[in-house]
Amino acid sequence: MKDSKKRGLNTICVHTGEVEDTQFKGAVSPIFMSTSYAFDGVEEKRYPRYFNTPNQAMLCKKIAALEHTEDALIFSSGMAAISSAMFAFLKSGDHVIIQQVVYGGTFHLIAAEFEKYGIEYSFTSSDNVKDFKSLIKTNTKIVYIETPSNPLLGITDIRAISNLAKAHKVITMIDNTFASPINQNPALLGIDIVLHSATKYMGGHSDISAGAVAASKEHISQIWNTAINFGGNLSDQTVWLLERSLKTLNLRVKAQTKNAMIMAKYLETNKDISRVYYPGLESHPQHEIAKKQMKYFGAMLSFELNDDIDALTFQNNLRLIKPSMSLAGLESTTVSPAQTTHALLSENERLERGIRDGLIRFSVGIEDAEDLIEDIEQAIRKTLTTK
Ligand SMILES: *Cc1c(COP(=O)(O)O)cnc(C)c1O
Repeated sequence: MKDSKKRGLNTICVHTGEVEDTQFKGAVSPIFMSTSYAFDGVEEKRYPRYFNTPNQAMLCKKIAALEHTEDALIFSSGMAAISSAMFAFLKSGDHVIIQQVVYGGTFHLIAAEFEKYGIEYSFTSSDNVKDFKSLIKTNTKIVYIETPSNPLLGITDIRAISNLAKAHKVITMIDNTFASPINQNPALLGIDIVLHSATKYMGGHSDISAGAVAASKEHISQIWNTAINFGGNLSDQTVWLLERSLKTLNLRVKAQTKNAMIMAKYLETNKDISRVYYPGLESHPQHEIAKKQMKYFGAMLSFELNDDIDALTFQNNLRLIKPSMSLAGLESTTVSPAQTTHALLSENERLERGIRDGLIRFSVGIEDAEDLIEDIEQAIRKTLTTK
């Protein structure tokens, strides 16, 4: 067998980290549901909350291989992964620099919890390295970024951030959920800790809640020390489902990504749409950075409907594409940030962040692009004629 680092992506997805069925020679990994394992004097005691049951331990190898890191851990949700990773490195008096555009749950974790523990933080609305540099203090411990970001698909220069952080001995973390390991591998660009909501592309079928962290053995071991105290491990049944999902990760995400490019180009030509945000388009302000650091441009995009088309009515008129709060499933979904994820902000705060009422975030699935285009066109027609 080839060293798993040299395997192709589809081979890694299907085979790396399989649990061998030594008893019956079945083709797929058996599930080990046991919460109790013999103590045979070895150093490693197996227990679900130690993240080391056979299914957990083996799936981590697949995730590490996908992100080009030495090791990984899987969690019961993206937020369990993110919170365990952050608290593993922080203590009272430390300082974190984080982008304001991060996922809402991450924003709330910091805004609601950090002060209680005496942890300082600076939110930055910038994706400019100079602005990050000006925020670094002697007690800065972590720089945390998310790129592409939600919902406007902003791009931050990953290499520039990791270089800056290294020069100041600061740990870097990235939420790589939107890109997935297929489209972007931040560890290859110098990022220390790569985070995923596996509820999204890794799960991919909108039926699993899970999270993942990929990093060096040393960093993973430090995260593990904290994670076993927080207890956010994933049940082995779900680990198994996640393994099954990951077998098609490359096939799914490639198909979705290809569709997203077709949809982005189409939407740019639609006269009822005033603007399209997709890092793969030349019109995207950070297209050049995206080209440098992403293998492909991902399957998330956003677009703005003209002012005469109501965003909610438009979405209710869609027949195939489902309005949905989550993202990254095989099925195409939309959400209007102004009325949902960003509804608690005032209109001015939303506009400051570039979120207009007609903005639609579009998670592109694997359906045939012609059917998606037709659905959007009929929904626009219907919204305009029934006003
Ligand atoms: C969904 C999501 C999360 C949180 O993941 P959960 O699995 O819901 O805990 C974090 N970051 C991004 C970018 C997400 O989309």
